[in-house]
Amino acid sequence: MAFEKKSEEATGAKRPKKPKKEKKPAALPPYAPTIQLEELGWIRRPQLTALGKLGITTLRGLLEHYPRRHEDRKRFDHFPNVPDEHSFCLSGTVGKTVFRRFGRMRSFEAEFEETPGSAFSARITLRWFNLFHVQKSVVIGSRLVVHGKVRRRGKRLCMEHPEFEVVTEEDRESIHLDRIVPVHPAGEGISVRLIRGIIHRALSETDWSAWIDPLKQQEADWGTALRNIHFPESLEALEPARRELALRELLGIQTLVTIRRNEARKPRGKAKTSRGNLLARFLKALPFGLTSAQQKAVATIREDMGRAHRMHRLLQGDVGSGKTIVAASAMLTTVESGHRAILMAPTQILAEQHFRNFQHWFDPLGIPVGLLTGARKLNPTSKGKTLPEAKHSGVVIGTHALLHSESALQGAGLVVIDEQHKFGVLQRTQLANSPSAPDVLVMTATPIPRTLAQTIYGDLDLSILDEKPPGRGTLRTAARTSEKLPEIIAFLLDQLEKGRQAYIVYPLIEESGKLEAKAAEAEITSWRERLAPFLCELLHGRMKAEEKKSVMESFLRGKAKVLVTTSVIEVGVDVPNATFLLVENAERFGLAQLHQLRGRIGRGIHTSTCVLIEGSGHPEAMERLTILERTNDGFVVAEEDLRIRGSGDILGTEQSGLPPLRIADLYRDGDLINVASLEASRILSRDPSLIQPHHLPLKLLVKIHETRLNSMGG
Ligand code: ADP
Ligand code: MG
Repeated sequence: MAFEKKSEEATGAKRPKKPKKEKKPAALPPYAPTIQLEELGWIRRPQLTALGKLGITTLRGLLEHYPRRHEDRKRFDHFPNVPDEHSFCLSGTVGKTVFRRFGRMRSFEAEFEETPGSAFSARITLRWFNLFHVQKSVVIGSRLVVHGKVRRRGKRLCMEHPEFEVVTEEDRESIHLDRIVPVHPAGEGISVRLIRGIIHRALSETDWSAWIDPLKQQEADWGTALRNIHFPESLEALEPARRELALRELLGIQTLVTIRRNEARKPRGKAKTSRGNLLARFLKALPFGLTSAQQKAVATIREDMGRAHRMHRLLQGDVGSGKTIVAASAMLTTVESGHRAILMAPTQILAEQHFRNFQHWFDPLGIPVGLLTGARKLNPTSKGKTLPEAKHSGVVIGTHALLHSESALQGAGLVVIDEQHKFGVLQRTQLANSPSAPDVLVMTATPIPRTLAQTIYGDLDLSILDEKPPGRGTLRTAARTSEKLPEIIAFLLDQLEKGRQAYIVYPLIEESGKLEAKAAEAEITSWRERLAPFLCELLHGRMKAEEKKSVMESFLRGKAKVLVTTSVIEVGVDVPNATFLLVENAERFGLAQLHQLRGRIGRGIHTSTCVLIEGSGHPEAMERLTILERTNDGFVVAEEDLRIRGSGDILGTEQSGLPPLRIADLYRDGDLINVASLEASRILSRDPSLIQPHHLPLKLLVKIHETRLNSMGG
């Protein structure tokens, strides 16, 4: 059972050090969990310092320093005779110890015996490299509990750098043996044993009556859950305790999210009304009608913008579901009501693509469209030309550069953020907080599982495009090893001969990554040879802006047939004639990201093919990729990704905008998110600022999450 959560701790609320009841009526009253550890009086100074280094300063922080795992020291494993992949927990006695030298490395080895003195005693070797302090505690005759993997080294079975504890006879009576023992994250100057002792004493001396539970309708109380997460009677008691604590953690987060949501929605006094003439003309000029999902989204958005409250909305739709048209409709509504509309995209390539489309759509309507990218900003001649005058109600499209342009943001009535998962939450907030209090529409194709959306985007209203425009060819995906490359190339050549286009993608994630540029650059020559006479071009994030632009334009016009590229094309790029996508070393991408990538094809009427080359040779990696063979449904892909990688990996904390979770797991605890979210709304509807005394514990919980979130920085 592992609880590998971050061990840093925020001290939570700013609390008066000593409660001065009469003098400061405004301050929060003292509350047992926030007691400073030094006030307990029995933790020694060096230990306080060491705990402080782990970020633990309050009683609550200490008791929420959850174990990494537990060891059942009532029943130890038998010493193994063969190496084994899983970890063993062994109890035994140290026999001979020796030092060895290999060049500059030194190792310290100890014979470790199950039943010392017995001729049949099983034994293994414990071995440490360059760790000199170990020899002080691991001496002949000492009894140890060790934890680690057993490997074969020559003729011997060996445990290298095991976690270990020296145990004594007195430990039988205490907390380190003969029971289920927690193993907490330790740190400099404070061992696992010390922390265990301190937590044990703190748990037994805590007066739980002073721990008002933030959760009123508890089934089990907070104190019991805390005792059980550290020192359970049985391993079975762990999961219920974890769920109890997870529920409290999620309640704090959902309350924070709900407070933010209420704030974002505060009335700003002016509604944006328009008769919709421009919109009607725009839609009429399109070569297709809107899907019913698009119609519904546009109607909801217009209604939302017509209210006195600010709009704060997420438009979620799988790749290719046609979010851009919805954004354009919202922007027209804003422009028609006399305000400027802004669209921010995560890459220059995408911003330019939007710019071209919007010019094409809006020029006939007489609406000025400006472009602001980092590259353009450096170029004074085009800057002046492309940005509409501030007093104009036009449209400005750009990249992050928009964040730094006051003139672009001035008077903005609507901010649209495309591919919002590529931006940090702070950037989203920064745009939304611009002085004109604009409506906010964020768009994403990352199909966040529904339970997660509630938390991550809990401060946003949701519109979903759950329908693809008609007339799309099918998209097939195949996961293969590179042995199949000759056949794949033959297939690709056939596609090119039919007039189609293709992407070949090399991994590494950042737009500016050096490595990926190298990979794509190194490979372009061989692709040119393989695919001659078709024109192959290189496109990656480290190329000059002008180069990127001209390559992209050449591909768009159908001159370049193949782009050898990187994940710069991951988001947004829309070239319907491209029907083939090959991803090299696909195992290095997350499933959700591969799903985004394959969203570049299957946009036209022709059948499209995505080939994922597995390069690691690991069967599990191939197994994972075959999930994409089986489904084209972004939600299914996201659920699988979440199951395999855990929520933390999918949504870096920065982009999720959530404080790091310590004990809750967004995948396993989806049902608890619902409970927490309902409870948060119920409480806040009666007490929006949590000023009632019995909501104090919840208020503190929210503050702790807020502090953790803020300390994450931007
Ligand atoms: P995404 O949701 O991935 O951003 P886009 O907005 O780029 O999708 O749209 C993908 C393609 O579908 C574009 O070429 C767009 O013009 C086209 N499209 C959008 N809506 C419709 C529709 N209702 N009918 C047909 N094609 C559409
Ligand atoms: Mg898009």
